[in-house]
Amino acid sequence: MNCEVLVVGGGPAGSTAAKFLSQEGIETCLIERNLEFIKPCGGGIPSAGLNDLGILEEITKKIQFKSVKKVIIIPPYSEPIEVELRRGEILIFNRFEFDSFLRQIATEKGATLIEGELVKLEKNKRIKATVQLKNGALKEISCQYLIAADGVNSKVCSLIGIKKPNFFWTISSQIQTNRDLQTEACEFWFGSTHASFFYSWVFPGNNYMSIGTGSPKANELKKLLDNFINKRFPSINISTVKLRAYKVPKWEKRPFYIGNIILCGDALGTVMPVSFEGIYYAMKSAQFASEAIKQKNLIIYEKLWEQRFGRQFFIMKKFQDYMFGNERRIDKWLNKHRDPNIQELAMALWLRKEKSSNLIPLYLKAFGSLISRILLPQVKIHM
Ligand SMILES: Cc1cc2nc3c(=O)[nH]c(=O)nc-3n(C[C@H](O)[C@H](O)[C@H](O)COP(=O)(O)OP(=O)(O)OC[C@H]3O[C@@H](n4cnc5c(N)ncnc54)[C@H](O)[C@@H]3O)c2cc1C
Repeated sequence: MNCEVLVVGGGPAGSTAAKFLSQEGIETCLIERNLEFIKPCGGGIPSAGLNDLGILEEITKKIQFKSVKKVIIIPPYSEPIEVELRRGEILIFNRFEFDSFLRQIATEKGATLIEGELVKLEKNKRIKATVQLKNGALKEISCQYLIAADGVNSKVCSLIGIKKPNFFWTISSQIQTNRDLQTEACEFWFGSTHASFFYSWVFPGNNYMSIGTGSPKANELKKLLDNFINKRFPSINISTVKLRAYKVPKWEKRPFYIGNIILCGDALGTVMPVSFEGIYYAMKSAQFASEAIKQKNLIIYEKLWEQRFGRQFFIMKKFQDYMFGNERRIDKWLNKHRDPNIQELAMALWLRKEKSSNLIPLYLKAFGSLISRILLPQVKIHM
């Protein structure tokens, strides 16, 4: 089989790339190793992100979601901070439905979807991929470009011999809700008894909630989650809860492409430090990569990314490195968000997906001396 672009991985990044390429008339094949796979995920996405990607109206008409009413941040030592949301600012989707729907959009635009796993890659003039189909048969696909959208454990990275993204571990579960066990808020709990270099979360879905926590170390996950559940939901018996461990990439600058092989989403590591939001950024990376392929100029992929998100990722990573693992610092930083002006700036950056270049200087100004300690002299801050 021949195609111009082979996209490996049918998660948010892969399907988005397949959609943008196919709608430009570029012959695209999308392979997903398991169409039944459900990515462990909170499923929280700012509606502004979906709007920016041009799918908000369609997706909210066609699949179920939950609209979150408020965000509650629980600092390690201080009282919770509650932020009321504008209607529909954060939407929670079931990842199986979300991913399946994105794949459907891609095929409607003309992409060929194949259920199969990439097992081998050869690079000559063109790229030759060997895909193992569900029935065990091997299929060869020859392509001009290959997009690696195969997640944090990227097989493409292994096959071409480049390092996979660094990562944190998470452990999470989806718990059916009932009258006694309900929440309308996204909760972010900070504190080292239950989260390490991460936060513990509760995200409300339709008739379920996602709960979980994270750490750089796999062997302490279970203990941290036990502590979190005891603290937040003492009535839940943890031994009855089905748990899943999965990695979340740690953002750091890596090559965006090697030859004609292009990395997108978690395979590139595009998860926002501190918030650990990954779906929107995976989809945006795919959009930018598709634009670069369309223009037959891969250099512009990184440029588009840098222009739009470079500064915000850089600064949030510095924040993460400085604060996470130090409860006093986290507590101080979170408490700043009691100020309605800082809250508004943080929400604009996080939820409204407004161009970060205008907002970052204002957000940074609010942190004064803290910022100079973290960032200077690496970046010049124009205020
Ligand atoms: C517990 C947890 C909670 C999270 N919560 C949120 C949240 O609430 N909001 C948010 O924005 N982000 C969240 N994230 C991050 C988010 O899930 C990811 O950033 C996002 O899924 C990345 O999309 P992707 O398409 O790059 O990769 P993935 O979603 O991982 O998709 C990769 C796809 O590639 C397929 N694949 C892998 N190898 C092969 C192969 N060899 N051949 C063919 N196919 C292959 C996989 O089956 C998979 O479908 C969370 C992550 C975790 C772990």
